[in-house]
Amino acid sequence: MLKNLFLILNKLTLDWLAFFGIIISRYFLICGGTHLVFYFFLNSFFKLNLQIKPPLWNKIKKDMELSLFCAIIFAFHGALIVTGYDLGFTGLYTSINKYGWWYLGVSFVILLVLQDAYFYFMHRFFHHPRLFKKLHYGHHRSGEPTPWTSFAFDPLEAIIQAMFFVCIVLILPLHYIPLLAALIVMSVWAVFNHIGFELFPSSFYSNWLGKWFIGSKHHLIHHRKYTLHYGLYFTFWDKLLGTQDANYENEKLVSIKKKI
Ligand SMILES: [Zn+2]
Ligand SMILES: [Zn+2]
Repeated sequence: MLKNLFLILNKLTLDWLAFFGIIISRYFLICGGTHLVFYFFLNSFFKLNLQIKPPLWNKIKKDMELSLFCAIIFAFHGALIVTGYDLGFTGLYTSINKYGWWYLGVSFVILLVLQDAYFYFMHRFFHHPRLFKKLHYGHHRSGEPTPWTSFAFDPLEAIIQAMFFVCIVLILPLHYIPLLAALIVMSVWAVFNHIGFELFPSSFYSNWLGKWFIGSKHHLIHHRKYTLHYGLYFTFWDKLLGTQDANYENEKLVSIKKKI
């Protein structure tokens, strides 16, 4: 019994270290790469830089510090999921035939829709005046976001966010492919939400497809007006619950830059 416990703790620690290495490398690769490409090489090419001022190095450094703590926390949750899988507590599975190919796509969409809903309500909760300083101030500390802000969260917020994945693998049968795909989508989407550049023309946000997806323009408004735009991937909850800027879909990107 004691020997088994020791083996589980040993495996948990090794998984934790491995996840930490992956998460922190991913952070510096994706955020560093995006920063380099958009702020140095493509800066003059992209006319739609949404930022009022160029980002300050000391603010980026603070985002990096918080992201480092988040990597430690996220790695622990990753290790918990793997340990839960080893012990047979999760709905994770490896054989595609178990639920069929169609379920890979369906479970991927379910995962994104549920995560988006979880994020929306948690995010609104974090912005409550009594909780904001303790739970969410770290993410807004840098003011104008940069790719480095995408994973900068206060430790308590990081724990609450990561708990989504720990709970979902206990409830939902999931092949590791949609789970990995959702984690990659989350990482890339979060970076592009904070990029400070707009990659699409203004008309994209009023067309039938573009108005349902969140991008850098949508999330930048949240970083400037805390009472609006709490979603992660989709605008659905913001529209339904009246937290979307009334002018968002038709607003010109140039006016976003000048505003506030
Ligand atoms: Zn916020
Ligand atoms: Zn943000």
